[in-house]
Amino acid sequence: MQAPPDRRFAADAEAHRRDAPRHCPACGAPPAIATEFWEGTARRFYCSCSACGWTGEITPTGDVAVGHEPEH
Ligand SMILES: [Zn+2]
Repeated sequence: MQAPPDRRFAADAEAHRRDAPRHCPACGAPPAIATEFWEGTARRFYCSCSACGWTGEITPTGDVAVGHEPEH
């Protein structure tokens, strides 16, 4: 008998697919590595690009980008 799919894992995988960086910020190629991790309550992606060698962290902001400008 097959175990039912883990819904929580499926949701995580869905969120990962949605939020994982698709382009290297330096050259635009798909990052070779986009490893998701948590720092406190913030999700981050450690990325490494094999095309140009860029490495860094990308923090998804969700639906609304968090800006620093005051409200108009
Ligand atoms: Zn790159």
